[in-house]
Parts: sequence; structure tokens; C-alpha cells
Amino acid sequence: MIKGPSITVAGAGAFGLASALRLAEAGARVRVFDPLQDQPNASGVAAGMLAPGFEVALDPSVRAHLDLLMAGRNLWPELERRLGLVIDRSGAAAIGGADFLHRAAMGLKSAGLHAGDLPARAIQTLAPGLAPGFSQAVFTREDWRIDAAAALVALRQAAEAAGVEFLPVEALGFEGADWLVIATGAAQDLAVLAPALGQLSPIKGQILRLTRPYRGITLRAEGGYVVPDAGGMAVGATMQPGRRDLEIDPETLAPLHTLASALFPGEAVGEVRVQTGIRAATPDGLPMVGRDRHPNVILATGARRNGWLLAPLVARIVVACITEGDAGPYATRLDPRRFAT
Ligand SMILES: Cc1cc2nc3c(=O)[nH]c(=O)nc-3n(C[C@H](O)[C@H](O)[C@H](O)COP(=O)(O)OP(=O)(O)OC[C@H]3O[C@@H](n4cnc5c(N)ncnc54)[C@H](O)[C@@H]3O)c2cc1C
Repeated sequence: MIKGPSITVAGAGAFGLASALRLAEAGARVRVFDPLQDQPNASGVAAGMLAPGFEVALDPSVRAHLDLLMAGRNLWPELERRLGLVIDRSGAAAIGGADFLHRAAMGLKSAGLHAGDLPARAIQTLAPGLAPGFSQAVFTREDWRIDAAAALVALRQAAEAAGVEFLPVEALGFEGADWLVIATGAAQDLAVLAPALGQLSPIKGQILRLTRPYRGITLRAEGGYVVPDAGGMAVGATMQPGRRDLEIDPETLAPLHTLASALFPGEAVGEVRVQTGIRAATPDGLPMVGRDRHPNVILATGARRNGWLLAPLVARIVVACITEGDAGPYATRLDPRRFAT
């Protein structure tokens, strides 16, 4: 239990808010700084997949880290209760050509996960409206989903109720506090206090939000995914390394439109909204969580594609760094000093 230390958290995304909540619960005096007003951050536009299964199966950068991703996911049920959220545990299915299905199945199996073959009737039931041509699917129950925008609001409300103060301005440093937690996503303005931030690179992500109704499970296809989204569907997402602008790029989005019409042909698309967020990536694809050079500066950033999945685990490590508690078995793998030369 911390008594007394004051903590500035820079950034009100998934990492900053989850950390602020847990720090306040541990007895710290916490102030969260974030100048963001109308435009959502990466956390606010995310698809909300808590997806250790297909991330490990399909994304080489996290292939060796199923244990870490599972540890993040397994902390979610407690946060679900704490925030009054509902996690969608209906699972996810890969759909598409034989090569893609083989890759998805082998990726799951080589991680030690069950890869279920769904027959045509089952996938049509689990994904209502899916084109009949998609008659085979590889299914996992390991992947869950939250409503990311709702989770962000719930985290902030819970943090406020726990005594966290919010300031709608940038943090320039410690802001008078004993500790600084840098959870600024892809931003590098505070690198003077934490040189490891220089290791971050941006990956722009654009996601389509369609009002076309979809109440099925998460679908993973070659080049994109579909998730239910506020009665409609979200189709995501572009991966544009090196880009940190929020411009909408119609050309880059074209494959996502094509994917949506291939999966759900003949239905009115409805209203289309595009949202853009900037992911922060480290050289090895894992977040940086913990001390850098300054003993009272804690980093919580570099989430890349799995910031929501890992947020509860990141918050636990941040609290342990400040309370000198048990940071658990993953703190070493995420230590920002792993990049020090
Ligand atoms: C299109 C898209 C889809 C995604 N889908 C998923 C998904 O399905 N599942 C998943 O787990 N992850 C997903 N992600 C990734 C996930 O959204 C991110 O990894 C995660 O939200 C990053 O959270 P964060 O708190 O580190 O950063 P952010 O959410 O970017 O928040 C950082 C905040 O810091 C603020 N800030 C910057 N500088 C300062 C400063 N000096 N002082 C104060 N505040 C500052 C910014 O205004 C911002 O609000 C997706 C990302 C994108 C873009």
C-alpha cells in the first residue's frame, strides 16, 4: 500500500488510465494529464479484440509470446467486474482461402492452442450474413472482445471515483509530483526524461465503422478483420509503419472496403465512418514497461497492436515498480532497459 506519493500520469489511453486506476486504488495521489479533446486516441478507435490466439497465430512479432498475451487476457475478468463491462467471449474464426486457413490453424496449433474446424452451417450461424462461399473456418475460443470506447469511458469514471484528478493539458515533466508515469502512446515529447522513448516508431491504423448490422463473432481474414461494433461492424485495420498523421487515405482503405463487400455482399453498407489511431511500436514488438534511466520515471508505452489486451498486465507492473511490489514474471521481458546499448 502506497501512502503519500504523488504521481503524474501523462496520457489517458488504455495504459495511462489502467495504471492511474490501480495506483489510486493502492493509495497514491494521482493526476492524469492529457490534452486530447475531440479526436480519440489509439485506445478510443481500437477494435477491442483481446486476442492472444489469432495474434500469436497470425502476427510473427508476437509468435513467441503466447504466455504474455494470455497473462494479459486472464487479468481481464477481474477488470470486467471492477468496471461493470461485459466481455464478449464468443470466440473468433479465421475465414478465407485454404492457404490462409492452413496458416491460421498451424499458427494456433504450434502455439499449443486448439484450432477447431467449423463446418459451413456453424460458421453461417456464428457469423450471420456471411457470404455462403465462406463454408470453412478455423475457430478459437481463446479470443475475446470488449467495446474499446466504452472501456475507456469506464476506466476514466472508475479512476475519477477512486480519486484520480484529470487535467486537460499536456504533461511537460513531473508537474510537481514524486513520480512520472509516461503513457503517451506514440508521442516522444518526454524523451528527455526517458531516452528509451526514442526507440518508438509510429504505425498508423485506419479502421472502417459501418452501420451495416452485424451481431456475429470476430472474423479474421487475409488482410483484415470484422468485429461487431455498436450494432454495426468495424472492419480493420491498416498497418502503416512510419506514419503518425491522422489523414484518411482512401487508397489504403480500399482493401478494407473490398473485404467488407466480399464477406457481406449484397447488403447495404450503410453509413461509413473512418477512424484513425497511431500505434506505438518498439523494435521487438513488445511494450516498454518499467524504469528507464531516471529512477522515478516509469514507462508504459509501445503497445503496438495489443494495447487493450495487455493494459491490465501493464498497470500491474507499473504499480509494482512504484510500490516495490511483485511485478510478476513478465516485467523483465517488458523492461525498457532491454534496448539500452
Ligand atoms: C485501428 C486500431 C485498432 C486496434 N485494435 C486493437 C485491438 O483490437 N486490440 C488491442 O488490444 N489493441 C488494438 N489496437 C492497439 C491499441 O489501441 C493500442 O495499443 C493502445 O490503445 C495504446 O494505448 P496507449 O495508452 O499506450 O496509447 P494511446 O491510446 O495512444 O494514448 C496515449 C495518450 O497520450 C496522450 N499524450 C501524448 N503526449 C502527452 C503528453 N506530453 N502529456 C499528456 N498526454 C499526452 C495522447 O493525447 C493520448 O491520449 C488498435 C489500434 C488501432 C490504431
